[in-house]
Amino acid sequence: MDKKFRVFVTCDIGKAIELLRERGYEVEVYPEPEAPPKKLILQKVKSGVDGLITTLRDSIDAEVFETGKGTLKGVAQIAVGFDNINRADANRYKVPFTHTADVLTEATAEFAFFLMGTLARKLWPAEHLTRENKWGYWHPFLPFLGDEVTGKTVAVIGTGRIGLAFIKKCAGFDMNILCYDPAYENHAFVSAIQEINDLRHARGVSREKTWIKYVPFEQALREADFVSVHVPLLRAGESATPTYHLFDEKNLKLMKPTAYLVNTSRGPVVDEVALAFALRENWIAGAALDVYEKEPLPAGSPLRDPAIEDRCRLLPHFASAGRITRLSTDPDKGMAGRCVQGLIDMLEGNYGGDVTKMPYVVNKEAFG
Ligand code: NAD
Repeated sequence: MDKKFRVFVTCDIGKAIELLRERGYEVEVYPEPEAPPKKLILQKVKSGVDGLITTLRDSIDAEVFETGKGTLKGVAQIAVGFDNINRADANRYKVPFTHTADVLTEATAEFAFFLMGTLARKLWPAEHLTRENKWGYWHPFLPFLGDEVTGKTVAVIGTGRIGLAFIKKCAGFDMNILCYDPAYENHAFVSAIQEINDLRHARGVSREKTWIKYVPFEQALREADFVSVHVPLLRAGESATPTYHLFDEKNLKLMKPTAYLVNTSRGPVVDEVALAFALRENWIAGAALDVYEKEPLPAGSPLRDPAIEDRCRLLPHFASAGRITRLSTDPDKGMAGRCVQGLIDMLEGNYGGDVTKMPYVVNKEAFG
C-alpha cells in the first residue's frame, strides 16, 4: 500500500487490530477500559487520523467532523446501534460510517430470550434463597412461584434483524407471537414461522396450535404476557415513529399486570422513572433491562429501589457479549472483524471506491 493509514481506536477490540497493523496501518488504541474524553478524540482527529474506530460510548458529531475536515475518511462503529453518531452531521461532512449489524443478531436475541426466563422463573430471587440459607423446605408454592414462558404470548416490538431472530427462539417454545413494527413488516418470515408451527402441531411435536401475527402497538401491549423491545433509539425529528420513551407511563399502563417487559435495545426507549413507578405500583409483573438512559447505571437510579429488587433484573449492557460475537476477527462472525473490514473498505476504497456498495456503511444516502 502506498499510503500508510492512521487510525485511532477508542477501545481495545482485541486481535482484529492486528489485521490493520499487518496491512501497514499505524494504529493507536486508547488503553483504558473507560471511554476516552471527547477532547482526546478531537485531538486525535485534529492530528490528521484517516479513520476512527468507535463504540456506542463516543459522541461523534459535527465538532468531530469539522475538526477532521479534509483528513477523516471514515468512522467504524463496533456496534449495530449508532445513536451516538450524528447521521445528519456525517452526511453534511460526507464522512461514511459503518456498523456491525448481523454478526450480533443471534447473541442479542438469545440474551433477550434468556432474560425473559430469568425474570419470569425468578432465577435471581431463587438463587438468593439458596445462597442465603433461606431454603428451609420444599413446598408446592412457598415462598413464591414463577411464571412459565412456554405457551405464553409474547409481543415483539421491532421486527428487524434482532426481532426476527428473537421470534425464531420464541417459536421453539410454543409461544404465540404478536409483532409490531411501523416501518418493516416481514410477512414472508411470519408466514414461514406459521407454517413451521402448523407442521409441529400436525406432527405431534407441539400439543397446542400456536399463531403469529402483526398487530397495532396498543394491541400488542394489551394482549402480551411478555413484551420484548428490539428497536433502534430514534429521537423526535429522526423518525416519523420515534422510539425515545416509547415505554412511558401511558404505554406501560396498557400492559397486563401479569406481564413482563424486556429491553435489550437502547435505554432511552424506556422512561426509567415511569418504569420504576410501574413496578412499585404493580402495573406490570416485572422488567429485565440490559440498557439504560445513562450508562453505567447511576448509583441513585430509581431502578435500584430495593422495593422492586425481586422483579427488576438489571444487566450491564451485555446482550452481545459472547466471545465469538464480540471478538472474532472473521467479519462474518464477530463485531471486531466486521468493524475492521468496514474501516478497510472505506479507507482503501474497496468496491471501486463506491461507498454505496460497501456492505457495512450505514449512511449510503450521502453518497448516492
Ligand atoms: P434493525 O434496524 O434491523 O431493526 C430495528 C427495527 O425496529 C426496524 O425494523 C424498524 O422498522 C423498527 N422500528 C423503528 N421504529 C420503531 C417503532 N417506533 N416501533 C417499533 N419498531 C420500530 O436493528 P437490529 O439489528 O435488529 O438492532 C436493533 C437495536 O438493538 C439496535 O439499534 C441497538 O440499539 C440494539 N442492540 C442492543 C444490543 C445490546 O447489547 N443490548 C446489541 C445489539 C443491538
